[in-house]
Amino acid sequence: MAKYTPMMEQYLQIKAEHKDAFLFFRLGDFYEMFFDDATKAARELEITLTKRDAGQKEPIPMCGVPYHSADNYIKNLIEKGYKVAICEQVEDPKAAKGVVKREVVQLITPGTVMETNMLSERENNYIASLSHFQDGTFVIVYNDLSTGENRLAMVTHGWEAVIHELYNQPIKEIVISSNLPGNWQHDLQAKLNVTLSFQDEITFNGEYRNLCDDLNDERLMKAFSRLLNYIQHTQKRSLDHLQPAKVIELNDYLSLDMYSKRNLELTETIIKKGKHGSLLWVLDRTVTAMGSRLLKKWLERPLINQHLIDERLEIVDGFYQGFMERDSLRESLKSVYDLERLAGRIAYGNVNARDLIQLKQSLNKIPELQTILQQFPQPQIKELCNAIRWPEQIVTMLEGSLVDDPPISIKEGGIIKDGYNEMLDTYRDASRNGKKWIAELEQKEKQETNIKSLKIGYNRVFGYYIEVTKANLHLLPEGRYERKQTLTNAERYITPELKEKEQLILEAEEKSVELEYNLFIEIREQLKEQIPVLQELADVVSRIDVLQAFATVSEENNYKRPRFVENNLSINNGRHPVVEQVMKDGSFVPNNIKLDKETEVLLITGPNMSGKSTFMRQLALTVIMGQIGCFVPCDEADLIIFDQIFTRIGAADDLVSGQSTFMVEMLEANHAIANATDKSLILLDEIGRGTSTYDGMALAQAIVEYIHNNIHAKTLFSTHYHELTALEDSLDKLKNIHVRAEEHEGNVVFLHQIMDGAADESYGIHVAKLANLPEALINRASMILREFEDVDQGEQTAKIHDSNQLSFFVEENQPAKKKDIEKQDSAVEQALANLDLFDMTPLDAMNELYRLQKLTKQN
Ligand code: ADP
Repeated sequence: MAKYTPMMEQYLQIKAEHKDAFLFFRLGDFYEMFFDDATKAARELEITLTKRDAGQKEPIPMCGVPYHSADNYIKNLIEKGYKVAICEQVEDPKAAKGVVKREVVQLITPGTVMETNMLSERENNYIASLSHFQDGTFVIVYNDLSTGENRLAMVTHGWEAVIHELYNQPIKEIVISSNLPGNWQHDLQAKLNVTLSFQDEITFNGEYRNLCDDLNDERLMKAFSRLLNYIQHTQKRSLDHLQPAKVIELNDYLSLDMYSKRNLELTETIIKKGKHGSLLWVLDRTVTAMGSRLLKKWLERPLINQHLIDERLEIVDGFYQGFMERDSLRESLKSVYDLERLAGRIAYGNVNARDLIQLKQSLNKIPELQTILQQFPQPQIKELCNAIRWPEQIVTMLEGSLVDDPPISIKEGGIIKDGYNEMLDTYRDASRNGKKWIAELEQKEKQETNIKSLKIGYNRVFGYYIEVTKANLHLLPEGRYERKQTLTNAERYITPELKEKEQLILEAEEKSVELEYNLFIEIREQLKEQIPVLQELADVVSRIDVLQAFATVSEENNYKRPRFVENNLSINNGRHPVVEQVMKDGSFVPNNIKLDKETEVLLITGPNMSGKSTFMRQLALTVIMGQIGCFVPCDEADLIIFDQIFTRIGAADDLVSGQSTFMVEMLEANHAIANATDKSLILLDEIGRGTSTYDGMALAQAIVEYIHNNIHAKTLFSTHYHELTALEDSLDKLKNIHVRAEEHEGNVVFLHQIMDGAADESYGIHVAKLANLPEALINRASMILREFEDVDQGEQTAKIHDSNQLSFFVEENQPAKKKDIEKQDSAVEQALANLDLFDMTPLDAMNELYRLQKLTKQN
């Protein structure tokens, strides 16, 4: 067995306790890593991998980062989802006998960072915990250490619902029990891209009893304790800013499954994963970082209580109309600092005097905010104004204690105002008087020696000295001065009385710096007690900010206040909030929509690229905007309050889990069917595209029928199967609409206009033409299509009218049209028949046609 040096033994012992983290092992001025940690870190951080010969045959891989620049390396690893354990020397190396004692002093993890440079200003940084109980319930706890927020949600609908809830939240890390089944653990990592951490032992910590008032259930307490235990175990620091845990009743909000969160691009786009191009991007006219974070939360949890929605809308209306006042409001909000994160940093103990000056300036803006709010007539705005408590006590304390422009460092003095502390004033007097005395001494010496250039200076090594140029040395009296230093042109001297004064001055300065530091810590401690006050204020200010943002964006983009009506949705000239902004030139074509108790399902046909999915998304986004309390993009809107939105839109392949498009389609459709109610909104776009034509059409029809007959959810269903439009005859609450397109000199022109009735044809080939495929190819395709349509006539339409849809799935019962074709047709025609044009790129189509043409020529 390899034998290691004692220090290496120590390393291995500590590493054994921190297997899932990079161990930053302090050696002198470096943090070193060894073995696998070293190999992996060298790769991740692009630093040189070296070797250390530690007394055995095989040298050990090693790499290191300098102590003073470790922050950036740590940040890099944390951003990649890793954890870093900081292991310091905890005794003086000179005093140590044998190996210096070392301990892990902090475990930095993606969910627990507090450093401003590792956090995104406008986004929360959650660490969550997930607990599963025997009765099948799951409890999720969300905590943001940087703001102190604690929220819990209970999920009772099984594992899928847990993923839907967690999806798309800014969660960096999830704490679970190691007993959670492996496939679930895998799901969390694959679908949510989070770091997993484990906390098996759960002990209730009485210290945090005051945070638990709202937790009237043992499961909630246990779940909350799991998270607290983990944080305490890793952080080893003050958690005074944690806010009382609040339970989110998921049923109080519009529920969006993970497909909708993704497909609707509420907070980030599907492809680029960025905010640009999302609904958040359009709506985010907040001024403060706190407001921006709150807006994101509101977007993810729209309301379903009409009273609460109307309350927000009323405030937005007020802000909308009082645009001058709103402008002043925005102006004052600009000077309000991130109170929420500041409170967190006060508790953590890493605020400096400059931060506190910013806090003071922010708080000084509050009365101005109140004055502006009072000018609005709406009682709801007055209420908002009354909810603001100006923390006068904090302002007075900061005003009286801190100078206006303190340095960044809290260890070099210059922070505390004169008159704040008597002792400090005494030290400062001593130092100032001492300096005055020195200035006077200089004058006196000059006169007595008659040396005009004589001066008194100070440096760190010699302290105060009297400097005389060599040319004047002969004027100095004998014996009074003691030579200390010789320069090229001058000599420096000291006198006993100068040294005596120097000691007084330096002592006073040293003491005053030390006292200032202590006073600052005292102020910070006092502020800790005021953290809840700051958090409450942060809460109101962020709400004001989001509501003014709604008013601002509504005015700028000409949105209208929606009304909420029972079972009657009617939007006049509705627009897609994001597409219209991206187009910018005002060329977006507005459309109407109506859904009520007579019309529950709209079946949308129209050529590809005509605007079907835009129209569907537009409705969902309008509904969400209305239910978060924002005005909506249209001329007039009556909306229904929906309980859930389900979507299957676009061909966004689920690349992460490697499932096929068709499987994803079916999963999303199934999720909608299994969970929707008659108060839900379902959007299904081109269901059935991912499989062969007949399968797909059969499934599409069966799904529409099922929703129509059993669920009664308001549904938009777009399809390229024209055959489905015949359903209008058999399903009384289904109505056909189509997107208008016109043929102009053989080219199709999309008008993006929604009209009643079914579309005439699919225009697929016209789209290929738009994509500039060669003319010969297009002509050939048109010919093939015509032939195909001729064969197709009759049987297919007869089939789709057949009320027994099940027959589609049962081979024996089918008159097997596909098989007939196979019998009759040539290989080329067979291949053509099997093509799914709608799932092919123009390039695929061209290649395939090229191949087929070659085959025809050979024949
Ligand atoms: P489909 O779902 O029918 O294939 P899309 O909804 O993807 O079509 O729309 C295709 C493109 O047409 C969009 O990218 C958009 O630029 C444009 N478009 C859609 N609807 C409108 C509209 N109402 N006004 C103007 N342009 C639109």
